[in-house]
Formats: sequence, C-alpha cells, structure tokens
Amino acid sequence: MGINKRILVIPGDGIGSEVTKWGKKILEKVAENGGHQFQFEEALMGHVAIEATGNPLPDETLDKARSSDAILFGAIGHAKYDNDPTLKVRPEQGLLKIRKELGLFANLRPVKVFDELLSASSIKPEILSGADILFFRELTGDVYFGEKRKAEDESWASDLMIYHQYEVERIARKAFQAAMTRKKKVCSVDKANVLEASRLWRKVVQEVAKDFPEVATEYMFIDNAAMQLIKDPRRFDVVLTGNLFGDILTDEASQISGSMGMLASASVGDRIGFYEPIHGSAHDIAGKGIANPLASILSAALLVDIAFGLKDASDRIIKSVDKVLKQGYRTMDIADKHTDNRFVLGTDAMGEKVVGML
Ligand code: NAD
Repeated sequence: MGINKRILVIPGDGIGSEVTKWGKKILEKVAENGGHQFQFEEALMGHVAIEATGNPLPDETLDKARSSDAILFGAIGHAKYDNDPTLKVRPEQGLLKIRKELGLFANLRPVKVFDELLSASSIKPEILSGADILFFRELTGDVYFGEKRKAEDESWASDLMIYHQYEVERIARKAFQAAMTRKKKVCSVDKANVLEASRLWRKVVQEVAKDFPEVATEYMFIDNAAMQLIKDPRRFDVVLTGNLFGDILTDEASQISGSMGMLASASVGDRIGFYEPIHGSAHDIAGKGIANPLASILSAALLVDIAFGLKDASDRIIKSVDKVLKQGYRTMDIADKHTDNRFVLGTDAMGEKVVGML
C-alpha cells in the first residue's frame, strides 16, 4: 500500500540548492517505485530568505514546515556574514530558530565507511574498515542557547553552558533505544571532570542507563573521545553527547567516511523531522557544479526510514550509492590518486547515476 506524505524542501544557500535537487529526485524515485504519493513544497531560509524578505526564517517557511510530514534541507550561509561578524541579521539564525520552533532536540548522524572510499580518508584503511557509528548530538541546549553577554567595551564576552535534566533525559532515552537495535553500546561524551553542566549530564545518563540493562554504557571525556575516534573508530557504536562537543566530534568523524560530502543527518524531536547533509553552503565550490550530492541523497534515505518507516526503500538508496561507488564513479572530493579521470563526475552526473541505479 502506497503512503501519502507532504515533504517541504528548503534548499537554502550556496551548494544547498545544487545538492538538494538530487535528494528530492531520489524521493520522487522512491514514490514512483513504491506507488507512494509525495507532495513537495519549497521554502526559503538563510541568506536567500534575508535577501528576499529581510528575515532568515520567514513566517511562511515556518508555517509550511509545521504543516509538512518531513523536511529535506540543504545548507545555509554566505561569505558576506563569515567575513563580518557584526552583521546582526544572519543566515544561521534561521537554522537555530527552526530547530527550536520544531523542537528538534536530537541530531542523529550515522557515520559508516563505504568500502570503496577507504582510501579517500586521511585515516589508514585498516583502522577504518568496518567502523559504523551513530552519533546523537543534543541540538537545542548548551552554550549555543545559554545566556550570551558581553561588556559594553567588549573587554569580555561569555556564553552560558546550561543543561536541564529533561533535556539530557529525552535524548539519552532515544540514544539507548537506538543502541538496542544495534550493537547495544552507548558511549556518553562529556567533560565531567571540569564542567558542572557535564556532571549533570553524566548523572542523568547514568539514571537512564538503568532502564537499559542490556546496553553496555561507557563514559568518556571529550578530549579523550576526540583522540579515540581517530585512533580506533571501531570501538564505538552509539555516541551520545551535547551540542558543542557533538558539533566538533561529528565534523571530525566526517573524515571516517572520507568527506563532508558523504554525511547525512536527521534532526528529530517529537513530531516533524529535519533531514540534511552535515556540510555547509561551501561557497568555495558553489555554482561550479562539482558539489557531492551523496550527503543529500543519503539524507533522503534517512528521511524515508525515520519519518515514513520505509526501511527497505532507505536500504535500497544506500545500496544504490554503494553500487555507483563500486562502479568507480566519484565526485572530486572523494576521488584519489587511483581514480580514473573519466570517472570523476559533477553534481548532476553523480545524481543521475544514483537515481538511475535506484
Ligand atoms: P562547509 O561544510 O560549507 O565546507 C567545508 C569544506 O568542505 C569546503 O572546502 C567545501 O568545499 C567542502 N565541502 C562541503 N560540502 C561538500 C560537498 N557536498 N561536496 C564537496 N565538497 C564539500 O563549511 P565552511 O566552509 O566552514 O562553511 C561555509 C558556510 O556554510 C558558512 O557560511 C557556514 O556558516 C555555513 N555552514 C552551514 C551549515 C548548515 O547549513 N547546516 C553547516 C556548516 C556551515
């Protein structure tokens, strides 16, 4: 039986629209293959929204988001703001606000190595082979949302790191539930030797762990975790951590999969989820037609699995990516010295290959 769903597409800025085009085409193909009805709408966010309306998250976008079943997002950001931190209206405000408004408190980032890309990583293949980690990064608390202050003369500035018990508990529960469907291991990452917020984090995770006696739980300081991730990535199954530490660890982990252009993520809460590549708008390559669309395609795979329960369709998308890589095709960011130049594809050619395979 086919399903009927509404999907909001928010391409955003830079390479966002170039790659999201392919995430959307994959979703259209899933609908066609499975006899589903997906209705698509588009909306603005980020720099393009500021240019059009003066607001990085127009009300219209938020309304459309609230009435959708899932959101496929690209990326936001523009060089203008990166080079001028004094600009008051900024693209990332749109992203932070929509996460808060939709209650998207958990960011899931699966990091898995495609065998074909083992040599594209800066980590040795024998250390990497078989690594399969699912990160749970808390998304609506921590220093990013704590009180921000600065002296009038700018001689000091501060961001408050704050976590409430309920915030830790709800994401910890999701992480433990996910571990039950995997290798039943959770590593909770914090800085409990120094930070009060981390001591609370650890205490709450210890409580939640009691409800999951089959799960082996370990606690690791962020500095050690950053090191272990490169030294022995296979030791991890589910990694649970806060907003700031998770931001840094997951970018580090992108090297496990070879490139930022390969990593997808899902931001979920109680209802509508937000599916997006982990990369940004990459202005250095925007408009050149060379961005890797696979992270957006893999975001679409997460969307159909988590939001619509179409696990088979999701697996088929991942297999299609794998097969195209096995045939030797690469985008520039994942090509290496062994790649035949004739197999290095641009965004659209790579997107076509995966859609064709599916
Ligand atoms: P970035 O992720 O945009 O790019 C980092 C590097 O990875 C660049 O060299 C880029 O060319 C490369 N890269 C990223 N995605 C790629 C892809 N699909 N294919 C091939 N190469 C890819 O991060 P940045 O350069 O630090 O930031 C650029 C802009 O993006 C900034 O304005 C930043 O604020 C914004 N940003 C947005 C998000 C988001 O929307 N979720 C996340 C991070 C950064």
